[in-house]
Amino acid sequence: MTDSASAPSAHDPSELLQKATVLGAGTMGNGIAQVLAQAGLDVVLYDIAEEPLLHGLANVDRMLAKAMEKGRMSEDSAKATRKRISMSTDIAEACSGAHVVVEAVPEKLELKRSLLLQVEEHVSQETLLASNTSSLSIDAIASALHNPSRFLGMHFFNPVPVMKLLEVVTGSKTADADRSLAVALAHRLGKEPIVVTDSPGFASSRLGVCIGLEAMRMFEEGVASAEDIDKAMVLGYRHPMGPLRLTDLVGLDVRLGIAEYLEQELGPRFAPPQVMRDMVAAGKLGQKSGEGFYSW
Ligand code: NAD
Repeated sequence: MTDSASAPSAHDPSELLQKATVLGAGTMGNGIAQVLAQAGLDVVLYDIAEEPLLHGLANVDRMLAKAMEKGRMSEDSAKATRKRISMSTDIAEACSGAHVVVEAVPEKLELKRSLLLQVEEHVSQETLLASNTSSLSIDAIASALHNPSRFLGMHFFNPVPVMKLLEVVTGSKTADADRSLAVALAHRLGKEPIVVTDSPGFASSRLGVCIGLEAMRMFEEGVASAEDIDKAMVLGYRHPMGPLRLTDLVGLDVRLGIAEYLEQELGPRFAPPQVMRDMVAAGKLGQKSGEGFYSW
C-alpha cells in the first residue's frame, strides 16, 4: 500500500535530526547540503577530493547570494546556513554522529552500493540512509546493506534549493517509521514530498518521459511543428514548458538512456522513437550541443 505524503503533525519526528552527511558535492549534492543547512541541520559535505568540495561550496555561496538578492533570504540566515556546512574527504569523519546521510554520487549502481556499505560502518543503526538516485532501483542498492530497513530514496530535483518536489521512494524492506521520517524531513526542508513505491522511473521520470516520447512520435509523424506541440501542453495543460523544449534542456542523449532503461523494464511503450536515435547519432543533443528540436 502506498500512503500519502500528508503534512507533518504537531509532533515532527524530523526535529530529532540535527546532523547530516551528504555524499558527493556535485550538481545535486551541494544543493542538498544547502537545503539541509537552511533547515537548521549541521551538514558535512563529503567527496573524494578537495576540488569538487570547493567547487560545491562555491555554488552554495552563489545560490545563497542569489536568494539574498531576490529578497528570499536575509543576510543573517544566509551566513548561518553557510556556517553550518563543513567539508571532508574522510568518510569516517564525515559520517561520525550523522542522523541522516544522503548519497548523491554518480548514477552507478556498484559505486552507490559500495559507498553506502562503507557508510554503514560509521553510523548508528538508527541513522536514516537515503539515495538521490534518479533511476536506479532502491531494492538493488539496498541489497548490499546490512540493514536495508532504514534505507530509501529521496529524489530531489535540480536546482535543489528552488524545486519543490521530493520523491520519497520506498524499497520493499524500508520500515514505515523511516518512510514517515523522510516525509517529515522533506516538509522540514520546505519540499512537497510524494511517496512512491520502488519501480522504474519512479513517478516523475516515468510520466515525464512518457509525454516526451509521445511528443517526439508526433513530431516524427508530422502532426505539428515542435513549437506547436509544445504550445499544446503549455497553453492547453499549463505545463511551464513543452515536452520537446524540456527534452532539449535535459539532453536528448540523457533522455535516450532513460527511455532505453524504461523500455527494458516496462516494455515497448517506452521504446525510443527513431527521430531521437537519429538526432543523438547526428550529435543533436539539445541545448548543450546548440541544436535539438530547437536551435540554441
Ligand atoms: P555530479 O557528477 O554533478 O556530482 C557527483 C559528485 O560525486 C562529484 O562531485 C564527484 O566528485 C562525486 N563522487 C564521485 N565518486 C565519489 C565517491 N566514491 N565518493 C564521494 N563522492 C564521489 O552528479 P549529480 O548530477 O549531482 O548526480 C548525483 C546523483 O543525483 C545521481 O545519482 C543522479 O542520477 C541524481 N540526480 C541528478 C539530477 C540532475 O539533474 N543532475 C537530478 C536528480 C537526481
